[in-house]
Amino acid sequence: TFALEIEGLEKSYGDGFRALKGIDLKVREGDFFALLGPNGAGKSTTLGIVSSLVNKSGGKVRVFGHDIDTDLSGAKLNLGVVPQEFNFNQFEKVIDIVTTQAGYYGIPLKQARVSAEKYLRKLGLWDKRDTPSRMLSGGMKRRLMIARALVHEPRLLILDEPTAGVDIELRRSMWQFLEEMSRQGTTIILTTHYLEEAEALCRNIAIIDHGEIIRHTSKRELLQQL
Ligand code: ADP
Ligand code: ADP
Repeated sequence: TFALEIEGLEKSYGDGFRALKGIDLKVREGDFFALLGPNGAGKSTTLGIVSSLVNKSGGKVRVFGHDIDTDLSGAKLNLGVVPQEFNFNQFEKVIDIVTTQAGYYGIPLKQARVSAEKYLRKLGLWDKRDTPSRMLSGGMKRRLMIARALVHEPRLLILDEPTAGVDIELRRSMWQFLEEMSRQGTTIILTTHYLEEAEALCRNIAIIDHGEIIRHTSKRELLQQL
């Protein structure tokens, strides 16, 4: 089974700029996958399309076999996304941010509360549950984004530059958390411009540059050639 299949993905922005030039990408269930590339390569655009925040110009995207054009809700149920930018309601409490998200997936409130508690505890935010999100530190906000992305227990978790601008201690604890999620069977895809991060965490790597996949390989193979 493939967690994610991307075929011939194209994106031209409104100004005519071709950000993705027919990308193909396949990620197997259970993989820990890095989409590696320099700034401006097209990583966020790709993830934006997969999470239906950005319209594609052409091509196909399937999440666990659910085509985002014909079965977006099926795709979304299987997908959790951690964006790069914080996009919370500043005044909403931590617990409400996570339970509200569960509501978008049709999870009943009682079950949403149980799941919210589980992930807030896992991410060390349970003590902050009644704090408005604007009062959190940058590191706590990042962890809150991860808890929110997991509340419906998706099979595929996608993170856009999860450790950009994060201090080394939080980076280590995030790596540990992601490794644990991976061991428990969640398929993980992250974007990064740090080779070091891809190397530390991932089994398979695709390198994107100027809107094209220039390599699609296992980590072992890539490191042998550097
Ligand atoms: P879409 O094709 O997804 O609707 P648009 O081309 O309409 O996207 O652009 C969305 C917004 O991003 C616009 O307001 C645009 O001005 C802005 N934008 C333009 N160029 C860039 C850029 N290089 N990086 C980020 N945002 C940009
Ligand atoms: P990455 O995540 O790898 O840094 P992006 O997907 O953000 O790359 O951007 C890919 C290219 O598309 C860049 O050249 C960027 O300037 C351009 N771009 C991104 N968003 C927009 C937008 N809304 N409008 C126009 N150009 C954009």
